[in-house]
Amino acid sequence: MSTPAPDPAADAPPPHIPAALPDNEAQRLAVLKRYDVLDTEEEQEYDDLTTMAAAICDVPISVISLIDENRQWFKSHHGIDATETPRADAFCAHAILRPDEIMEVPDSALDRRFAGNPLVTGGPKIRFYAGAPLLSAEGAAIGTICVIDQKPRELTPVQRKGLSALSRRVVAQFEMRQLLAQLELQSMSDGLTGIWNRRAFDRRLREEWARHARQGQSLGLLMLDVDKFKSFNDDFGHPQGDQALIQVARAVEATLRDSDFFARYGGEEFAVLLPHMEAEGSLLAAERIRKAVAQADWPVRAVTLSVGVAAMAPQADVNRNILVAKADRALYQAKAGGRNRSQRFADCPAAAG
Ligand code: GH3
Ligand code: MG
Ligand code: MG
Repeated sequence: MSTPAPDPAADAPPPHIPAALPDNEAQRLAVLKRYDVLDTEEEQEYDDLTTMAAAICDVPISVISLIDENRQWFKSHHGIDATETPRADAFCAHAILRPDEIMEVPDSALDRRFAGNPLVTGGPKIRFYAGAPLLSAEGAAIGTICVIDQKPRELTPVQRKGLSALSRRVVAQFEMRQLLAQLELQSMSDGLTGIWNRRAFDRRLREEWARHARQGQSLGLLMLDVDKFKSFNDDFGHPQGDQALIQVARAVEATLRDSDFFARYGGEEFAVLLPHMEAEGSLLAAERIRKAVAQADWPVRAVTLSVGVAAMAPQADVNRNILVAKADRALYQAKAGGRNRSQRFADCPAAAG
């Protein structure tokens, strides 16, 4: 009797075929970045949705998976500890190739795309998978909400409908989070100059005060006030005055370090917080700013600033407004001293006495 010829496929490992890239990959990634949700904390709102998906579909595992350039990252993971896997292993990377439908894999062991997938051959030993793409308003599929079981099965039409509905809730939640972030940014920006406003300044001062108190380091503050600005408005009109304030903001900005915090304090007054800066360094920064503004190319009349300079190592139980009061006092002295100058609080006559 002749022995049968060996079947070359019998001992070959099962296939593992990573997904192709979607045609709109660049746009899709841009939308994902815009949502600004990758690597954020776990949140109840999203965990509630995976809990519901698992309950509706009667499975042990559900995740909200976002397909990043080289990985899938889980915004929520129910019934599984992993928070990300390589993109090459992601079932969801296949699901987003057909944005308008749920991808269902009744038994991954029988599916040539997945039989050799490490998530099938090893933990969490996926046998059943169904993923509903997460579609942005522009129609880009950024990931899925999916359900997973360790035994083969199929969804009922009602379960499919429920999973689709949940995919829309996930995206609605992303949209809301983005809207809130935009509103918060708007509420902290000055409408005329685009720099931070007084509200943002108050918040940052509170944070920096606490941080510098912890570190025992000196925090510098500059209060800037445009000189004789009432007469500038009187002579050239408010619209020219507004342009001048914008130009002041741009000139000041150009002199600052990344870590400095620059805000419109109100009217023609600005404030600069200088982290980790002593009085000496703060005075140097003030002079850099003052000269940059005085030497700028002014279209109708040269604009100058007076600058009050204060710096101190905060203490946790001391009111932070003391720093503002010192810089204000120094600013008053700079005005009294003739304007277009920087004045340190420590050199003010009252403070020295
Ligand atoms: P000083 O050198 O003492 O600071 O004199 P000043 O004229 O700058 O000070 P004062 O406080 O008398 O006037 C401030 C002026 O700033 C009056 C106000 O109309 C003008 N101002 C405040 N906010 C704006 C703004 O948003 N746009 C314009 N165009 N002017 C503004
Ligand atoms: Mg003023
Ligand atoms: Mg002024």
